[in-house]
Amino acid sequence: MHFELFKVFFIIVAVIVGVIFILTILMVASPKIRAKFMGRQVKATKYMIDEVEDDLTDIATKRANINKEGVEITAKAIKDGLKDKVYCKYCGKKIDKDSKFCKICGKEQ
Ligand SMILES: [Zn+2]
Repeated sequence: MHFELFKVFFIIVAVIVGVIFILTILMVASPKIRAKFMGRQVKATKYMIDEVEDDLTDIATKRANINKEGVEITAKAIKDGLKDKVYCKYCGKKIDKDSKFCKICGKEQ
């Protein structure tokens, strides 16, 4: 009895493996079949994009905003770095070259 069950199971597995094997060979050999499968995949992708269009737009917008923020921070850092800086004569903190008073300790330069 157990042996019979095993035999049936083995035949089913063999048939599945055989079908997959034949399909793979056909896909490789026949451009027509490959195109059919690809067409189905493209359709599925299109459908998926249509379904989640709002979410995708949201993600793209958020990502663009994050990138914008990053660029702004970098641009500001570069601008600050290019500004002429000197050190306060009294407290030694970095201040703008053209400032009359130190913004940290308030003493006249
Ligand atoms: Zn100072």
